[in-house]
Amino acid sequence: MSILIKNGRIITAADDYVADIFIENDKITTIGKSLAVKADKVIDAQNKIIFPGGIDPHVHLAMPFMGTASSDNFETGTRAALFGGTTTVIDFIIQKKGNTLKSALEEWRGRADGNTLGDYGFHFAVTDFNDNTKAEIKDMIEKEGISSFKAFMAYKGSLMIDDMQMMELMNEINKFGGLVSVHATNGGMIDYFVTKHKSEGKLSPLYHYLSQPEITESEATGRFNDMANQTGVTAYVVHLTCEGALNHIREATKRNQKVYAETCPQYLLLDASLYDKGFESAKWVMSPPLREKKDQAALWAGINQGLIQTVATDHCPFLLEEKKMGEKDFSKIPNGAPGIEHRIELLFSEGVNKGRITANKFAEITSTNSAKIFGMYPQKGTIAIGSDADIVIFDPNEKHSISAKTHHMNCDYSSYEGWEVTGKCKTIILRGKIAVDDNKLFVEKGYGKYIKRGKCPNII
Ligand SMILES: [Zn+2]
Repeated sequence: MSILIKNGRIITAADDYVADIFIENDKITTIGKSLAVKADKVIDAQNKIIFPGGIDPHVHLAMPFMGTASSDNFETGTRAALFGGTTTVIDFIIQKKGNTLKSALEEWRGRADGNTLGDYGFHFAVTDFNDNTKAEIKDMIEKEGISSFKAFMAYKGSLMIDDMQMMELMNEINKFGGLVSVHATNGGMIDYFVTKHKSEGKLSPLYHYLSQPEITESEATGRFNDMANQTGVTAYVVHLTCEGALNHIREATKRNQKVYAETCPQYLLLDASLYDKGFESAKWVMSPPLREKKDQAALWAGINQGLIQTVATDHCPFLLEEKKMGEKDFSKIPNGAPGIEHRIELLFSEGVNKGRITANKFAEITSTNSAKIFGMYPQKGTIAIGSDADIVIFDPNEKHSISAKTHHMNCDYSSYEGWEVTGKCKTIILRGKIAVDDNKLFVEKGYGKYIKRGKCPNII
């Protein structure tokens, strides 16, 4: 099978030019002006932009949680991702306390393998770091292609590890060229505020927000950076939301430390005024919570300053019925929101169109940097000869609106209901196969491939 894409404007992290792209089987084999080649299929991309397929490095599909599970599984979640121009996702395997990493890997692969439409990889969330876990790290990196590990500084008693375990985890991962990522919020401070608010009868979703003030995130981010600096491990802060935490990243870079940061569209585009809507605010109950307008400005600037490298979604949807578990107690609302489908279109419309970021920066934060940081480059994350033919053909002028009525995520609400966006993912190609064209799906579950990732090469 071969595809020739003609006359598109190709935008990567580095380049911006008009050319033809020739795809043979799953790879890009030629790029050039007016290619005179025969192809099984020819796509005219005049007036369209061509981006590398999106990579979302932070999703939770079918994640068991509070007696339920996030409402998109690997099939529905990767399908929605494809409609939105994301061809590869990285999900988090979560180790259960007392269990091995290997058994958790088997559990997650059992749910994912054969069920995904888009390509996928895994990070490991290590929740029980002991001598047995320690002995498994090397094989996870070198044999299973899982080179990034996440630690939680919050959720004491379930997910959290303490600072000594964190130091040992970092030290071990550093030996084998892996990366440590973190949910950086101070769990003890948050537990204090949650308990205090509940004892005062303050139970609405607003108090979820008020239990996680900015300091809980900035303190933990600074502490994490210092621990990573001591061990020398490459570090990555997931879902960074606020100015205070960003300032700690800036400080770390002054000592030439490798600490990457990720934010999400919801932190760039939504703010805490949404917690003023009574129980409806449960839709935006996530951790960390939405922040202030000044934080949005800091985050956009942080992207342009090169302090924030990636924009992921932290896609973790729950149905409204499930959110109701916390109707009388904000601490029982399942944390998370849908987002996997609209990352690309929102960032283009709100970022590129509004002059906050360049189109090259857009390619960088939606695809290239994740491929580089997480050991998939240049197989993924760019448009180049020899790379996987993962391509988004994008109409920069098409206007449409976001709604739960039309989205493909298995969630009965949208965080962006009614938002008008300019720019639409028209044709999505994954490894040389048209996956979506003009809102129609052309791949089935099982097409998605597990991506064994390489070590984290520090090439940013
Ligand atoms: Zn997450």
